[in-house]
Amino acid sequence: MKRRFSLLCICVLSLQMLFASQPNKLNEKRSHFKGKKPKYVFYFIGDGFGLSQSNAAEAYLAALNGKEGIQKLSMNTFPTQGFYTTYAENRFITGSAAAGTALSTGNKTSIGTIGMDASKQKPLVTIAEKARDKGYKVGVVTSVSLDHATPASFYAHQPSRNKYYNISVDLGKSQFNFFGGGGIKHPEGDGKTVKKNSVANMGLDDGAKINDHQENAITLAEKNGYTFVKTNEAFRKIKKGDDKVVAINYRLAGGKSLPYSIDQTEGDLSLGDYTQKAIEVLDNKKGFFLMVEGGKIDWACHANDAATAINEVIQFDLAIQKALDFYEKHPKETLIVVCGDHETGGLGLGFSGSHYHSDFKLLKNQKSSYEVFSARIKEMKKTGASFDQVMKAVRDNYGFDSGEKEMILSEYEIRQMKQAYDQSFGKGEKISNRDQYFQLYGSYDPVTVTACHILAQKAGLGWTTFSHTATPIPVRAIGSGAYLFEGYFDNTDMPKNIEVLMNL
Ligand SMILES: [Zn+2]
Repeated sequence: MKRRFSLLCICVLSLQMLFASQPNKLNEKRSHFKGKKPKYVFYFIGDGFGLSQSNAAEAYLAALNGKEGIQKLSMNTFPTQGFYTTYAENRFITGSAAAGTALSTGNKTSIGTIGMDASKQKPLVTIAEKARDKGYKVGVVTSVSLDHATPASFYAHQPSRNKYYNISVDLGKSQFNFFGGGGIKHPEGDGKTVKKNSVANMGLDDGAKINDHQENAITLAEKNGYTFVKTNEAFRKIKKGDDKVVAINYRLAGGKSLPYSIDQTEGDLSLGDYTQKAIEVLDNKKGFFLMVEGGKIDWACHANDAATAINEVIQFDLAIQKALDFYEKHPKETLIVVCGDHETGGLGLGFSGSHYHSDFKLLKNQKSSYEVFSARIKEMKKTGASFDQVMKAVRDNYGFDSGEKEMILSEYEIRQMKQAYDQSFGKGEKISNRDQYFQLYGSYDPVTVTACHILAQKAGLGWTTFSHTATPIPVRAIGSGAYLFEGYFDNTDMPKNIEVLMNL
């Protein structure tokens, strides 16, 4: 009995040691790192980018090329893979601010907090700031506005992600060498209306406000030496050695973001174009740190728009390809890390109604994003369009009832569309139960979101939420020190690895 007890004790002790040693193992690996340290570090963060978004894009690419299974994204050919937990200090399902702060500082923080501790009192130094102070050039590129939660987590210190004005003031003080992609959401703060078409008005909605007490954040940034570039012609002229450049797309979609890839037209610059430009500007003998965010994977997944989300993933991968091209030239001195901040939408690669069937190529039928299509529905509401007129637009945008037999709408699907039309256009019976309404449509246009759901389901995809999920996130790495990113760890370990590798 005694022997059995001591054996049990040994077992329990060794199990405890095993679990206790998990986090320290990575610490140990980091502290014993003896390999060559990278001079050029790329940190790619897909917002709302989980394993299912990655794999859905791979299945879609294979289907388009008539192949079985998957066609790998560039990022998934990297030799090292790991994954990590994402929970925030005060919530299991994280948000972009807390997740961004974890990925930029190595600290858990509270929901909505940017670059500060959970109590919102103490600013936390980010790896981008440490890199700057060590003489590396620093760049931030994103497909959403430059003051959005993820990019802000690398240069701003604010108690709330919604303090856009204060965040853009922090941007102008950051001394980072390059910003590129979307615009500045609220450079004016709140108050009286600004003049249209002034330089200060860049990236603003018409009728945006200015406060008497606040100086425009763009003017402040210009006083700090920044140049704002907003035309393709000026963008092309940005060259190696240029410093303190903020390159904003000439055309911005909702929330001052780059238009969705699926909606981009000739003349639109892609995330890859901004990444390429950042590399040109930052390239120097001392090295650089570049964070690139694929920010609209998240937005499309919030809207449960699979085709748009997958196109964003593909564009994100094309931006990563630019870094890979650079890596090929400097393989011993470059590190590329690709990850996500959290998953969005609870995307499942299977749906109850389609059983075991997948047909990813059907997603190709969608012509424009939920954003563009919702705007079209909004216009149709003004003219009081009939159900038949709306269905004509739905069929046109999503490719239903044309071409493949798989695209024919079933009676049940038409009933779902009719219910959505009634809710959207204020006809028929109103769904009065708020929970029921929200579970069906979230805060999106009912017609648009129902059409997106039906197309996803036909392709064999299902969504469980209009919000984020807590599923662990994969990371891929290639180059000097990549092996530190192997295993199962926490999002706060990500910048800790980079700190060690860059001697920050
Ligand atoms: Zn996010």
